[in-house]
Amino acid sequence: MSKEIKTQVVVLGAGPGGYSAAFRAADLGLDVTLVEARSTLGGVCLNVGCIPSKALLHVAKVIDDAKEMASHGVSFGAPEIDLDKIRSWKDKVVGQLTKGLDGMAKMRKVKVVNGYGKFTGAHTLQVDDTTITFEHAIIAAGSEPVALPFIPKDDDRVIDSTGALELKDIPKEMLVLGGGIIGLEMGTVYRALGSKVSVVEFADQLVPAADADVVKAYTKFNSKNFDIMLSTKVTAVEAKKDGLYVTFEGKNAPEKPVRYDKILVAVGRKPNGNLMDAAKAGVNVDERGFIHADKQLRTNVKHIHAIGDVIGQPMLAHKAVHEGHVAAEVIAGQKHYFDPRGIPSVAYTDPEMAWVGVTEKEAKEQGLQYEAATFPWAASGRAIASSRTEGFTKLIFDKETHRIIGGAIVGINAGEMLGEIGLAIEMGADAEDIALTVHAHPTLNESIGLAAELYEGSITDLP
Ligand code: FAD
Repeated sequence: MSKEIKTQVVVLGAGPGGYSAAFRAADLGLDVTLVEARSTLGGVCLNVGCIPSKALLHVAKVIDDAKEMASHGVSFGAPEIDLDKIRSWKDKVVGQLTKGLDGMAKMRKVKVVNGYGKFTGAHTLQVDDTTITFEHAIIAAGSEPVALPFIPKDDDRVIDSTGALELKDIPKEMLVLGGGIIGLEMGTVYRALGSKVSVVEFADQLVPAADADVVKAYTKFNSKNFDIMLSTKVTAVEAKKDGLYVTFEGKNAPEKPVRYDKILVAVGRKPNGNLMDAAKAGVNVDERGFIHADKQLRTNVKHIHAIGDVIGQPMLAHKAVHEGHVAAEVIAGQKHYFDPRGIPSVAYTDPEMAWVGVTEKEAKEQGLQYEAATFPWAASGRAIASSRTEGFTKLIFDKETHRIIGGAIVGINAGEMLGEIGLAIEMGADAEDIALTVHAHPTLNESIGLAAELYEGSITDLP
């Protein structure tokens, strides 16, 4: 039997952007309907992205830490891997969070409609046999992994990030195609669990968005862990019974095809803008599937907003969340807009790579007058005591005002540490503000204060 729902705000997609927008709109007194194709809330991030990958990275970290202890006099022996248990632990983590969202939706009386939504007009959306009539819509449809045409499709030895998280087996030889954040994070997991992992990247450095010095420190530390082929691309994959034979081309290409047991394709994500008949509501979608939105997250149709991965880079959960809040507040009549001074990026690899604000690369491209100060962790008491001195902390300052405009950290816990730099950028702090902030000793965070002191020329002694 067909159903009809009339709502003030319909949100299409229940990822970090969608659920944040729905909850904020409900908190502001609006009647909200949240449409989601998956059987659970949370989108890519909670179900097949940020959260399950971090659960597995936690396992990888403990394995690596335990191994490292041997050189400090504590040996645990070789790890015994029970894949079923690891998988069910990861699923439990995901379940706890997605169920939490169910509760939060109920508490706010957000109606959840399960199914795939498509626009049928500027104020109507169809989800299976349910017609939803809305005053405002927020499109939060997210993105999905890009597939490569020359790679076999129906071969379960070729996986994307979702397949990698399923953790069906631990291949002996694995190729990660694409040296971006997602590929390296999943490569870290499989390497720790016992795979021999090779990474091929078309650009001349891994994680091309990050500054070269950051990636260099990561790559140097990992040269023993991964076989890394930069400036190289895959041109063909032949599926044979005994494995996948990969042909490479480029600077570091092996001469003959190389056999792998599994290939993880991690070459980026494409937006889902083309999948919901947006044109029927009058919303423009570009040729790549992105929907353009302004600083108030409005599309070209005033009462329809768009947020998250579907509106562009960076495709990150925290960007989607903040955009979701702004979209809901604008619909509720507030004059807010989304214009942060920095959006943090973190690769939860080992070591972690994290940056916020402008990178040096961007500063150069934009012709900014800047200066950078770098504090090497080789001089950090805490890093030495943790036997992890490969990292550094870099702050980027406006040359004239000495205000901080960017920063990057490579090292253990870099992602957690980055928050201080993000706050300093957002608050318009200058080098002196950071240098005069008393940081606890011995912490890795201290390196942020010390980088500012180095820049100010006020450093006296190193911890
Ligand atoms: P999504 O999370 O993609 O959610 C969109 C939802 O909309 C989906 O559930 C989809 O089913 C639904 N949908 C789409 N179209 C329709 C429709 N027409 N009708 C009904 N439902 C629809 N980001 C970070 O910030 N930190 C991380 O550590 C991180 N790790 C990641 C690890 C992996 C392996 C992956 C793949 C991604 C990771 N990301 C990470 C990126 C992050 O997951 C995304 O940026 C984030 O999920 C985007 O949120 P969103 O709300 O825009 O869309």
